[in-house]
Amino acid sequence: MKPSLIPYARQWISAADIQTVTDVLHSEWLTTGPKVEEFEKKVTSYVVAPFGVAVCNGTAALHTAYHAAGIQANDEVIVPAITFVATANAAVFLGAKPIFADVDPDTLLINPASVKQRITKKTKAIIAVDYAGQPCAYDELRHLANTHNLLLLADAAHSLGATYKGRSVGTLADATTFSFHAVKHITTGEGGMVVTADAALADRAKIFRNHGIRTDHRQRTEKGIWHYDMVDIGYNYRITDIQCALGVSQVKRLPKFLEKRRRIATAYSEAFANDSLVAPLVVRPENQHAYHLYVIRLRLDRLRGDRDAIFTALRELGIGVNVHYAPIYLHSFYRKNFQTAPGLCPVAEKVADTILTLPLYPLMTDGDVKRVIQGVRQVTKSFST
Ligand SMILES: *Cc1c(COP(=O)(O)O)cnc(C)c1O
Repeated sequence: MKPSLIPYARQWISAADIQTVTDVLHSEWLTTGPKVEEFEKKVTSYVVAPFGVAVCNGTAALHTAYHAAGIQANDEVIVPAITFVATANAAVFLGAKPIFADVDPDTLLINPASVKQRITKKTKAIIAVDYAGQPCAYDELRHLANTHNLLLLADAAHSLGATYKGRSVGTLADATTFSFHAVKHITTGEGGMVVTADAALADRAKIFRNHGIRTDHRQRTEKGIWHYDMVDIGYNYRITDIQCALGVSQVKRLPKFLEKRRRIATAYSEAFANDSLVAPLVVRPENQHAYHLYVIRLRLDRLRGDRDAIFTALRELGIGVNVHYAPIYLHSFYRKNFQTAPGLCPVAEKVADTILTLPLYPLMTDGDVKRVIQGVRQVTKSFST
């Protein structure tokens, strides 16, 4: 019999969550009603950012943020090689060109020295991705952005609740995006948000979310008017009140979710601190990590077989390990359309073949955590040379 699977991520839905969603289903507004603004206010007050624009998913948040920040066709946008494909894809949506920067081998965070090498006359923006939940080197990235007159944007899909030098993620870039997919810190099923201190950027984001139209259906209904003007190109990137009600209820438990994630991460870090076959990623002293992911690197020099063999052995034990991520530019779409090839980011390519994401979610029991630690030890030992 196969052991039960501990997934790599899992949502935590409470009775209160279900009640708030049910209440919306009985209310007048299923979408673009009062819950959207309420959710925006809850998230922006948590991260202490002036403006928030909630959208239907984290990828839409990236597209919206890039557009609202002014990224256009033929601009170059510097992104880390190791992130979810959406970080780069959202630039492609706008006709811009993603330029891949290499990462630091100990953290997998974008390397500012590599960013600097990639800056050209066409560069418009640097995208910081807080990989696994750890903030990037924002002071260095801000210095580069200011020196070269570039935007600094943050894909913080992993790092809601993290801090850098005591400053909250959401306040470290010109605009920051979050995802509320079921695997993230808090969930609306699917959902996302752009947060910013720039009122004009927030205004453009709101318009982009709603077909390029400034007023929404509810505002026109309340004013008793029908007329609207489409002032810009836009999409239907709206999020529903049903989803935002879930978000409002979830964000109340965010401190608890973070505490549980950090506690599990500490248990992993202690277990693997002196392991000769695996090494946790490094956490920089200036960061308070939000631990969306817990990633270890395999010491392949001391192991027979590759990462995928160890991945399969762990899955057979019911340990739901995962891999985040292969370098984006090695995907066939980028090879074909942007002529990317192996060798572009040597550090990313080397480290990407060694990484494994361990299960991590607030509902994990101490027994689950123990099973993961023992499973990793058992499997890596059986592969050791
Ligand atoms: C989850 C994620 C996204 C996309 O969010 P969706 O809500 O799934 O569209 C973007 N970037 C990163 C780094 C992510 O982890």
